[in-house]
Amino acid sequence: MFKSARLQLTFWFVLIVMVISAFFSIIVFEAIDIHLIDSYRRAEVRINNRNFGPQLRDQNAMMGVSLPEIETIFSDEIDLARQFFINRLLFANGIILLGSGILSYILAGKALQPIEVAHQEQNRFIADASHELRTPLTILKTSLEVNLRDQAISQETKHLIRENLEEVNNLQRLTDRLLTFSVQENNCRLDGADELEPVNLKKTIKNAISEIQVLANKKQIAIHQKIDTVNVMGNATQLTQLFLIVLDNAVKYTPKTGSIHVKTKLTRKNVLISIKDTGIGIHQAEINHIFDRFYRADTARTKSSSPGVSQDGFGLGLSLAQQIVRQHGGEITVKSKVDHGSEFNIILPL
Ligand code: ADP
Repeated sequence: MFKSARLQLTFWFVLIVMVISAFFSIIVFEAIDIHLIDSYRRAEVRINNRNFGPQLRDQNAMMGVSLPEIETIFSDEIDLARQFFINRLLFANGIILLGSGILSYILAGKALQPIEVAHQEQNRFIADASHELRTPLTILKTSLEVNLRDQAISQETKHLIRENLEEVNNLQRLTDRLLTFSVQENNCRLDGADELEPVNLKKTIKNAISEIQVLANKKQIAIHQKIDTVNVMGNATQLTQLFLIVLDNAVKYTPKTGSIHVKTKLTRKNVLISIKDTGIGIHQAEINHIFDRFYRADTARTKSSSPGVSQDGFGLGLSLAQQIVRQHGGEITVKSKVDHGSEFNIILPL
């Protein structure tokens, strides 16, 4: 992230320097050009004065020869001089470009250094905080689950505990995602997250589907699959998480009795994974933002008219999904139509 920011900053620094330099070069060239022709005119007058006597020794005589005339008479010399100046100016601009490029790169690095340090500190804080939250959340979840099994408590209390349990699950998912984010941004290793190995794509997608199946069954959503057997170079844990995020959203944003189609298509160099749902869809205006961190599209509009569409979430899933896809050298895109469904397409290199 900081590498590309540094390159961008360097580009803008160099652009500013080069615009100023080009502007000065044009002014200098124009001035030299005018002065050059003027000098030839003066020389011409001096020669004429020497050859034709005192009657022409008049300052006005200088003005008797026009600029275009001078240019025609001394065209070869003037062209040669012009070429010389142009070459010199180009050379000077080349040096400025090189020098400003190197200096800008160094300066951009220095300017970004404090921001990079602050960013790393922030990531470390998020990682520590989410890590610290994991244990109390697990304890809370276990005790809620134990209470839920208690025969003595009323249905009303059980309902309340179930709702609490769902919130704890959401919080757990949030802390997990925050932790993965911060660890990935700091390029640390989490369960071998940096190691690339041949991953069986079919198995990975099926693992994700089986985890999501319970939620889909609850809403009577059918998941249809047509997946090729193929290996991709990647990290199995991260890829499972990627498919979990997209499938989880597909279930979350599809009303009851809808359907999800998971398909793969092989090309010579890539595999395309398509996850298509019959859900509430996404507005075109929101499509450009759904991969932004903490962005949540407006689901309130459809919630009432689409039974079973959940509003749970923190707007972190797709941002993390995009990060995982990018780390695998792939691309994730979405096509969607409101009230008709969404199709997420993931391209991964083989
Ligand atoms: P969230 O935790 O809110 O689901 P995400 O980053 O996973 O966060 O998704 C961002 C937003 O994109 C969601 O709030 C939702 O509005 C929209 N979205 C994602 N997937 C789908 C989908 N399959 N159908 C409709 N909307 C979706």
